Amino acid sequence: MTALENLVQNLARLPGIGPKSASRLAYHLIKTDSAYNKQLGLNIATIQEQVFPCSICGSFTEVDPCPICDDPSRDKTQLCIVEQPQDVITLQSSGAFDGLYHVLGGAISPLDGIGPENLSFSKMLKRIAEGHFKEIIIATNPTEEGDTTALYIRHLLKDKKELSITRLASGLPIGGDLEYADRITLARSLKGRILF
Ligand code: ZN
Repeated sequence: MTALENLVQNLARLPGIGPKSASRLAYHLIKTDSAYNKQLGLNIATIQEQVFPCSICGSFTEVDPCPICDDPSRDKTQLCIVEQPQDVITLQSSGAFDGLYHVLGGAISPLDGIGPENLSFSKMLKRIAEGHFKEIIIATNPTEEGDTTALYIRHLLKDKKELSITRLASGLPIGGDLEYADRITLARSLKGRILF
């Protein structure tokens, strides 16, 4: 295999990059400034040493524990359970949550061979047993896998009567018209309706 074929093949393994995009990127890299290529190569080669999962919550961090787990001003009575480290960034950017997070590392998906044993449920249970949580907020995705995972969490916590277990409401997009909402979003919004 030539150096170019090798590069194309490796680029094509990135999510969202097909063989066509991979070859376009490879030709771009050949023509581009070599200092940029070296910097990009170094960034890729060292990213896993510099950014890694927090030993407490599992979100990506450059220091352990992460700044969220380490922040004494955060509300230690609320634990928000998410699928992926990126979800922590998304929820944080909403500015609407001040508690702690727990990253599962995915969702239960038997078709993809992901069972409960592949996700960090035992770590989650240990944190809940040792912590001072009053509310567990399930923030898994509004997908079939996310729903299955949410039900599984509720099942795991069924004996913890002292905890209130909530799930993110699946709302309608702000500024959107009901007529443009898709049926599933609308059905969920109806089911998750709140007292007004
Ligand atoms: Zn953390």
